[in-house]
Amino acid sequence: MNIVMFGAPGSGKGTQSDLIVDRFRLTHISTGDLLRAEIKAGSEIGKKVEGLIAEGKLVSDDIIVALLRKKVETTKDTAGFIFDGFPRNVAQAEVLDEILKGIGERVTVMLDMEVEEKTLIERLILRGQQSGRADDNMETIKNRLDVYRNVTLPVMDYYKKQGCYRQINNNGTVEQCFAQVEAAIEDASK
Ligand code: AMP
Repeated sequence: MNIVMFGAPGSGKGTQSDLIVDRFRLTHISTGDLLRAEIKAGSEIGKKVEGLIAEGKLVSDDIIVALLRKKVETTKDTAGFIFDGFPRNVAQAEVLDEILKGIGERVTVMLDMEVEEKTLIERLILRGQQSGRADDNMETIKNRLDVYRNVTLPVMDYYKKQGCYRQINNNGTVEQCFAQVEAAIEDASK
C-alpha cells in the first residue's frame, strides 16, 4: 500500500498522514519535514534550501529526489509508504514510479485533499501563529498557492490516467475527512 497525499498547502496532508500511520501502520515521508530537518541540522542541503522555502519556491528536483530515494531505500520492513508533499511536479511523479518499481512496488492510491482557498489561507495563518513556520505568512502563502496551481496541479492528471485518483473533501472536520480517507484506502486495497 503506497499512498500519495496530494493537495494545496494547508489542505491537511500532514494531519491526515498522522492518522493513517496510526490506523494502517505505514511509513510517513514528508519531503517538507526532511528539508526542515536539514535546515535545523545546519547541513549543506539545509543552507541551499532555506531561502527557497522561505519564499515559497520549489526546491530543485535533484535535492528532493536524492532525499526521498535514500529514505525509501533505507526503510526496511514496512507495509508501505505515505508520500506527503511529493510529487510536486510531473517529473517527480515519474521518478517516484521508477523508485517504487525498483523495490517491486507502485502507487496504490492518490488522495486529493480538496479545500476552499479561503479556508486554506485561514488554516495556514493559524498554523504560522502556532508553529512559527517561516513560510506560513501571507506573502509566502500566496507564492505557494501559485506554485501549487501552476506546477503541481498537473500531477493530478498523471494519477487520473493511472486510475488511482481519489478526491477527498476536507472543508469539514478532521474526523469527517479521515472517514473518507479510511474508506478510500480500504477500497483501494481490495
Ligand atoms: P511542505 O511542508 O510540504 O509544505 O513543504 C514546504 C516547502 O518545502 C515547500 O514550499 C517547498 O519549498 C519545499 N518542498 C517540499 N517538498 C517539495 C518537493 N517535493 N519538491 C520541491 N520542493 C519541495
